[in-house]
Amino acid sequence: MIDYQGHFEAAIEALHAEKRYRVFADLERIAGRFPQAIWRHDGEAREITVWCSNDYLGMGQHKDVISAMQTTVSAMGSGAGGTRNISGTNHPLVELERELADLHGKEAALVFTSGFVSNEASISTIAKLLPDCLILSDELNHASMIEGVRKAGTKKQVFRHNDVAHLEELLKACDRGRPKLIVFESVYSMDGDVAPIEKIAALAERYNAMTYIDEVHAVGMYGPRGGGISERDGVAHRIDVIEGTLAKAFGVLGGYIAGTKAVIDSVRSYAPGFIFTTALPPALAAAATASIRHLKTSQAERDAQQRQAARAKAVFAAANLPVMPSDTHIVPVHIGDPDLCKKASDHLLEKHGIYIQPINYPTVPRGTERLRITPTPLHGDALIEALKDALVETWNAVGIPFAAPMPANAARSRKITPLVVSQAGG
Ligand SMILES: *Cc1c(COP(=O)(O)O)cnc(C)c1O
Repeated sequence: MIDYQGHFEAAIEALHAEKRYRVFADLERIAGRFPQAIWRHDGEAREITVWCSNDYLGMGQHKDVISAMQTTVSAMGSGAGGTRNISGTNHPLVELERELADLHGKEAALVFTSGFVSNEASISTIAKLLPDCLILSDELNHASMIEGVRKAGTKKQVFRHNDVAHLEELLKACDRGRPKLIVFESVYSMDGDVAPIEKIAALAERYNAMTYIDEVHAVGMYGPRGGGISERDGVAHRIDVIEGTLAKAFGVLGGYIAGTKAVIDSVRSYAPGFIFTTALPPALAAAATASIRHLKTSQAERDAQQRQAARAKAVFAAANLPVMPSDTHIVPVHIGDPDLCKKASDHLLEKHGIYIQPINYPTVPRGTERLRITPTPLHGDALIEALKDALVETWNAVGIPFAAPMPANAARSRKITPLVVSQAGG
C-alpha cells in the first residue's frame, strides 16, 4: 500500500522544520481607506495597517478605476465567456492592448491573465520560435521567467546579477549567427536595485541579441508616463519585448507583453498559455485601461511614492534599523534568520496591528531573510513614524540585531523633508 497522505504530510513537515511554512493572513481591504484593512484571526476582526502591498500607488481604490470596473460589469457582465479563439476579443481588451502598446511606444501588445503567465508563455514561445536559441538569463530573475526559460527547452546560460561584464563574456563566446535572447528585469523586487538597461541594450546591439525585460515592479511608477525604467532612461525603443503586470501599480489583474507586430502576433498564435485559457473579463480590462490612462498624465502618485519611500528609509536608518540599500520605492529591512523573521512579522501584527509579510528562502537567499516594506502615496508621515516605533520595539522584543549607529555628521546630513499631505490615488 502506498501512503499517499503521508508523502504530503512529510512535505509540509519539512517546511515547518525549516521555519518557512507560509501562513496567509486573512485580510479584507477597505476601498477608500487603504492601507487600512481588517484582519480576522481567532474569531476576532481587527483593523490593521498594511505595509507590504504591491498595490504600490493605491490605484486599486482609485475612483476612476472602480468606476470603470462597475460601469463595465453592469454593461457587459462578469466573465469573458471563453478563450479569445472561441469568444472573440471583448472590446475593452482591444482598447487595453492599444493603450499598452502606446505606453511603451511599441507596435502592438498582448494581454494575458497574469504577469506570471505572460512571462512563462512569452519567453518559452519566443525562444522556441528561434532556431537553436541561447537564452541568457539574470541569476535573480523571477520564478515566472525561470519557468519560461525552462519551458523553452533551449540552451540557457545564467549571468551574474546585473553583471554586464559577465554577460558580455557569454555573448562573446557564442556564435554570432546563433539567435540569443537576453531576459532580465528592470527593478528587482526583493532588493529594490535597478538593471543597467542601457548597457544591456548596447551589448545586445553589439552582439546581435534580442532583449526581453520584465518591468513588473516599474510600470506605472517610473518614466514620465509610467512606462517603467526603460521609459525613464529613454531606452524603451532599444528593448525588443517589454513585459509588465496590471496587478501591481495599476491595481487590477493581468499581465502583458509589448513589442513588434511580428513578435506579438507570433506569441498570440503559438503560446498555449495564451490560446487555451479564458480571456481577461471586460470589467478588469476597462479598469486597467482607466488606471494606465490616469497614470500616463498624473505625476502626483509617482512623486508621493518616491517621497514617502525616501522618508521611510531615512527615518528607519536614523533609528539604527538595518535598512538595506535600495535605489527604488522598495525598502527592505534585514533580519538574516527565517525564525526571527517570522517572529518579527507575527509580533508586528499581533502587538502593533501592522502587517508586513516575512520574506524567507527561496524568495531570497538564506541568511538574507528580511521584511520588505513598500511605502505608498497613502502611507503618510504619521504612519511612517508609528511604523518606526513599532519596528524598534519589535527588534528589542524579538532580539534582532540593530545596525551600527551612523556617525553623527552622516545622520545629520540625511535630509528628512516633511510630507505635503497628498490625496493621490484616493
Ligand atoms: C509579481 C511578479 C510577476 C508576476 O506578475 P503577476 O501579475 O502577479 O502574475 C512577474 N515578474 C515579477 C518580477 C514579479 O514580481
